[in-house]
Amino acid sequence: MHTPRAILKNVFGYDSFRRGQEEIINEMLSGRDVLGVMPTGAGKSVCYQIPAILSGGVSIVISPLISLMKDQVDALRSNGVNAAAINSAMDWDDVRSVLWSARAGKTPLLYIAPERLEGEGFREFLSSLSVSLVVVDEAHCVSQWGHDFRPSYLAIAPAIDSLPKRPAVAAFTATATEEVKTDIIRQLAMDSPFVLTTGFDRENLFFQVEHPADKMSFLLSYAKKFPGMPGIVYCSTRKKTESVCGKLVAHGIRAVRYHAGLDDAERLKNQEDFIFDRATVMVATNAFGMGIDKSNVRYVIHYNMPGSIDSYYQEAGRAGRDGSPSDCILLYGGEDKSTITYLIMQGEDKNTKETAFRKLRQMLDYCHTSGCLRRHILNYFGESVPDGGCGDCGNCRSVAERHDITVEAQKIMSCVYRAAEKTGGKKYGPHVIADILRGHPSNVSRREQVARFGLNAISTWGIMKDTAARDIVYIIDFLAAEGYLMTDEFGALSFTERSFPFLKSKTRLLMRRHESGQKPKQERVPDKAAAKGGFFSGGILETLRKTVTVGKRSAFSGELFEALRRMRREIAASEGVPPYVVFSDKTLQAMCDALPSDEDEMLSVPGVGRMKFEKYGHMFMDAIREWREK
Ligand code: ADP
Ligand code: ZN
Repeated sequence: MHTPRAILKNVFGYDSFRRGQEEIINEMLSGRDVLGVMPTGAGKSVCYQIPAILSGGVSIVISPLISLMKDQVDALRSNGVNAAAINSAMDWDDVRSVLWSARAGKTPLLYIAPERLEGEGFREFLSSLSVSLVVVDEAHCVSQWGHDFRPSYLAIAPAIDSLPKRPAVAAFTATATEEVKTDIIRQLAMDSPFVLTTGFDRENLFFQVEHPADKMSFLLSYAKKFPGMPGIVYCSTRKKTESVCGKLVAHGIRAVRYHAGLDDAERLKNQEDFIFDRATVMVATNAFGMGIDKSNVRYVIHYNMPGSIDSYYQEAGRAGRDGSPSDCILLYGGEDKSTITYLIMQGEDKNTKETAFRKLRQMLDYCHTSGCLRRHILNYFGESVPDGGCGDCGNCRSVAERHDITVEAQKIMSCVYRAAEKTGGKKYGPHVIADILRGHPSNVSRREQVARFGLNAISTWGIMKDTAARDIVYIIDFLAAEGYLMTDEFGALSFTERSFPFLKSKTRLLMRRHESGQKPKQERVPDKAAAKGGFFSGGILETLRKTVTVGKRSAFSGELFEALRRMRREIAASEGVPPYVVFSDKTLQAMCDALPSDEDEMLSVPGVGRMKFEKYGHMFMDAIREWREK
């Protein structure tokens, strides 16, 4: 039976469609143009690969990068689909044999780079094929408003137009604002397309912004905490990339680097080491990643802030394509802002500059907001998110740990003000202020001081009777750390420029919960990172770790998972494909849970289709049996 569902099961090994997939496939099969805006990892490939397999003719897939095409072709072949790619690295003989096989109807999917379409010879060749579909991958590249504009994408529409019979056109992208969507439809001359936006949210990604005093030590402790887990660290410059990579290596982390200043051979080698899991951490400029399909990237750390949320989400989104929990952490430092501002100022065009500054502003807001980070991103892409936030980003989690101290702050600050007013500008330290507020001097000398200056007569005397002195002092420290109060070298308190505006505006003030009763002196809030919940308070990786090592079959499944992973790496090496082309992490995990012991059980593991079962099924079942018998 050749239904989309049967292909999904037999070729790709999946039981059910994900959100949006079936609708898109049906629209495409009915011959309608389609624009699919679906987040990374949502499963866009299946959306056009199934119609391509079912449609009979040749489907042309336009894809911006060789590596991306290669991955897709490898993955399709490993599932028994005879896909092919033509790229600039091939010699003419190879190209010709691919073309012949396509003309003979033996190649359901033909991947090409957009530049191909600029050649007249190639366009003529296309006219001799029975082209059933044209698929444009990474379609945002056609729009100048997107973040990766590729002029050669503009050759697509004329090429389609020159075909004897216009095939259906399908375009896919992960990130597109309304403006970019409209632009894609216009630039590709799509004919009243079916537009499906499944939403941009990537539920398995955990977002966090940190303002660490020392980015390097943050990064080091993070990377060391998760040894062996693949991660990408993005830096803004080649120089930064070099130094960060060097330091990671010096600390025994298998890191490699990638930027435009390296020669092609080294770039390729480093990229492959990372993709094939031989290197753990990729330190790179934004030159790295476009078209990299590595599905098991467990974290993306931005060592520097990118210039826009478009770029940030695109880069951070390279984490967790396989749907497993992954972290996206941005390390903010004030210097990032100046670097980007400087770059924008270098530009000539006024409009471009204005847009760039607007985008920078939105990125900065992301770094400084105490609201939900996920909501911030999704709103940016025009998607609304229920009030209250996602509950699962760095900010949402730390809000849960914070409490409202607005009223306390107002009382404390008025007390500082009144006490100074009463005594001709004399300043007092936190403990005296706490005593006044409690209406209860805690020792003889303070009692005398209070009496001498008449501090028991001011309006704030005793207005915090029920609060412990150390809790008042803790809040005072917090107010000082946040710049609402100032302390001199003797610890005496006074107002800052933020004090009056705060008292007037009645802004809410949230402070991280502390354990009441601890010694207040050591309780100073040291820096923002700590105030926001500490480095590792809630990364999803933490949870992942727990489920892997403390989960149901705990230690065993970790061991089995490692064994299967090793086997996968060997198979991949012998076939010259990346490990995730053999099976994804998720599929291996599912094997560990299901422990399949016969054909039916193995075939019901998500990601195991007919072809893969025949190739690898028994090897993996043997490994599982061995592990069980141990
Ligand atoms: P995208 O191109 O949208 O980033 P991919 O097409 O690479 O995403 O798919 C991401 C992962 O999800 C792949 O491993 C793919 O095999 C898997 N996948 C796709 N569709 C399904 C499905 N219906 N059920 C389970 N997994 C799926
Ligand atoms: Zn949130």
